[in-house]
Amino acid sequence: MIPRDFEYYAPKSISDALGLLKQFGDEAKLLAGGHSLLPMMKMRFAQPGHLIDLGKIAALKGIREEGATIRIGAMTTENELIWSKLLQAKCPLLVEGARLISDPQVRYKGTIGGDISHGDPGNDHPAIMLVLGASLVLRSAAGERVVPADGFFVGTYDTLMKPDEIMTEIRIPVPEPGSGYCYAKLKRKVGDYATAAAAVTLRMNGEVVRDVAIALTNVGPTPLKARAAEDSLRGKALTDTSMNAAAELAMSICDPVGDQRGDAEYKTAMAGEMLQRALRLARSRTGH
Ligand SMILES: Cc1cc2nc3c(=O)[nH]c(=O)nc-3n(C[C@H](O)[C@H](O)[C@H](O)COP(=O)(O)OP(=O)(O)OC[C@H]3O[C@@H](n4cnc5c(N)ncnc54)[C@H](O)[C@@H]3O)c2cc1C
Repeated sequence: MIPRDFEYYAPKSISDALGLLKQFGDEAKLLAGGHSLLPMMKMRFAQPGHLIDLGKIAALKGIREEGATIRIGAMTTENELIWSKLLQAKCPLLVEGARLISDPQVRYKGTIGGDISHGDPGNDHPAIMLVLGASLVLRSAAGERVVPADGFFVGTYDTLMKPDEIMTEIRIPVPEPGSGYCYAKLKRKVGDYATAAAAVTLRMNGEVVRDVAIALTNVGPTPLKARAAEDSLRGKALTDTSMNAAAELAMSICDPVGDQRGDAEYKTAMAGEMLQRALRLARSRTGH
């Protein structure tokens, strides 16, 4: 299918992009890697009259450590996350998640900011952001606000971001050395979205769980933070029984839509399986 006619802009600064957004309002759309937006435009689910390409804005790119925070420009691509020595050393969960996104073509152009902004429950970064305790920097002509990723996703393709805002940066607290982590993703074939996936970060105190964060992908209208499952594990040994009980609690909040990847019952069961797999791998990465 062919998209409707549109005007194309390639501003070189964030303020120029914000000016265009303000000028064209609802008629405008921001373009990042284009891997979600362009298919939607071709199917005419999105019909912007003005397309504002963020690709020429150098200030939106890059990965750096500032104090106890990792700051990632929203236009940083999946491949740049994967190749980052800083992330490999200090935040390997993000590298593991990015590697599991789609295929090389998508990872070459697709951006972390686009993946989060799109609000697609099938996207992988949102659950990873929840377990990393990330914050999102949103800028409009009126100023800047920083919102926690936890609470940002409000429904399918729906987030707290306003139409006049640009996500400029993702901020992640540097994980404590020795933290366990895992993103376990079940997909039918290379390049597919998750049938179900689980993101886990884990800190152990000897044999006992000191802290754990759990979030699930593609088993609800938004990524799901599995709070009761987390609570059930804190202060306990990580045994087959405790992991099984946590998986049951996580499965109880799943509400997936049945599709070609499976029916709701199967997807829910797979979310439980992915969580148990993620917990085991995360524990092995803490050295316990
Ligand atoms: C075949 C295929 C398989 C895929 N499989 C996966 C997968 O397994 N896992 C996964 O996570 N993703 C997957 N994707 C989606 C892919 O990761 C997209 O790249 C991502 O969803 C959107 O990022 P983008 O940079 O391409 O954004 P775009 O498509 O350009 O934009 C997406 C939306 O976000 C908005 N937006 C983009 N950047 C900003 C910003 N900085 N501020 C505010 N709004 C912004 C746009 O206006 C648009 O509404 C797949 C895509 C394809 C085509």
